[in-house]
Amino acid sequence: MKNERILLASPHMSDQGYEKEYVKEAFDTNWIAPLGANVDGFEKELAEFVSVGHAAALVSGTSAIHMALKAADVGSGDIVICQSLTFSATANPIIYQNAIPVFVDSNLETWNMDPMALRKALEKYPNAKAVVVVHLYGLAAQLDEIMEICSEFGVTLIEDAAESLGTTYKGKYTGTFGKYGIFSFNGNKIITTSGGGMLVSEDEERIAKVRFWSTQARDKARHYQHSEVGYNYRMSNIVAGIGRGQLKVLTNRITKKRNIHEFYKRELAELPQISFMPENDWSESNFWLSSILLDGVDPNYLMDELDKANIESRPIWKPMHLQPVFEKYDYIGGNVAQTLFETGVCLPSDTKMTDKELYRVTNTIKRVLSNEK
Ligand SMILES: *Cc1c(COP(=O)(O)O)cnc(C)c1O
Repeated sequence: MKNERILLASPHMSDQGYEKEYVKEAFDTNWIAPLGANVDGFEKELAEFVSVGHAAALVSGTSAIHMALKAADVGSGDIVICQSLTFSATANPIIYQNAIPVFVDSNLETWNMDPMALRKALEKYPNAKAVVVVHLYGLAAQLDEIMEICSEFGVTLIEDAAESLGTTYKGKYTGTFGKYGIFSFNGNKIITTSGGGMLVSEDEERIAKVRFWSTQARDKARHYQHSEVGYNYRMSNIVAGIGRGQLKVLTNRITKKRNIHEFYKRELAELPQISFMPENDWSESNFWLSSILLDGVDPNYLMDELDKANIESRPIWKPMHLQPVFEKYDYIGGNVAQTLFETGVCLPSDTKMTDKELYRVTNTIKRVLSNEK
């Protein structure tokens, strides 16, 4: 019998059925749409979890980044400095706002935005409107340095914490350092609502404005009256119910992700071709996806062999400045992001994995890499 496929990361509902209870409540009260108790509850409970003042529940992390840029007054022709090593959803909303992205490199200490490259970018573009930093795979960026540079240049910081819900930087949750932070509840994220996102900020007025824009920008009037362009970006009450249930098990999911990472580090420690994603003593990562770098081995070879063993794996994100759609924009930095892309592999980090499945992954890697040399 063929082994069942081991996945990178997939939805993991609570054993207790919390999500179903909230969704059932919405059905029982016919509060299927639009807003309602689950949306309010999910916003409040997530804001409490990460200790931030205000939150707006939206249809996706991407729409949350879009609304963050709009709230930061990013408009036509404005420069936005953006981490290059990330998923395209970080950068696409810059284009939605007709703004101009300038991509910057990562450093090896964090895999995230290199503060020195950020400084160079802002020296070149001192009028930049916003900076978008990402906490990739749950690793925290160097927030103190980045925040200091942003305030020196008077530029708004937006944190793309789509992958880092539950990661702390010096004891405080990522997503709560910038003027705006965003989270994603897409199917592969540490908790999921099937699809969804959240924008958080201490600025109550701006969050209220985002709620207004994301429900079609209806002015206060009996008829439909609009003085601004609106969006249909609000999360539904059903989806928010799933989110409320998932929040109850977020701590368990973080523990499991951390255990998966520890397991890989222990089991693969003796392989000289492998090094692990960085760990810094000023941060506790949620280790959304455990990732490795390979030395002297083609990642494609390892990924092909894992696939033959019915194990999913994936390269590190391909940097934005190397993407056909973005290559015409300026890029500041060296080749760290490119090197991470060319040598990295994300390993299965599914929180439903059993020890037996984890051993299947590490035994396959050991077999492949010991044959290799
Ligand atoms: C998933 C993700 C997003 C987008 O979130 P969606 O909810 O899928 O729109 C943005 N940035 C990063 C880094 C992501 O991983």
